[in-house]
Amino acid sequence: MRCTHCGEGGLEPGFVGDFGEASRGFARWVQGALERGIFGGARLMGRPKWEIEAYRCPSCHHLELFAARRA
Ligand SMILES: [Zn+2]
Repeated sequence: MRCTHCGEGGLEPGFVGDFGEASRGFARWVQGALERGIFGGARLMGRPKWEIEAYRCPSCHHLELFAARRA
C-alpha cells in the first residue's frame, strides 16, 4: 500500500481511538449523513457501523482510512 498523498510506502497500521464514556475504545464509520437527536447526540439506531482501519504515512503523516469490517 502506498500513501495517496506523497506516494511513500510502508504505511503503519492503526485505528482511530474513541476514549469517551461507554466507548469500546475505537471509532466507527456510520452509514448515512449525521442526524442529531433532541439531546444533540448522533442518531445511531438502525445505522450500519463499520470498524475504521487507519494507516499512517511515516513520511508526510497522512492517514489512509478504510471502513473494512462491520462492527
Ligand atoms: Zn505520505
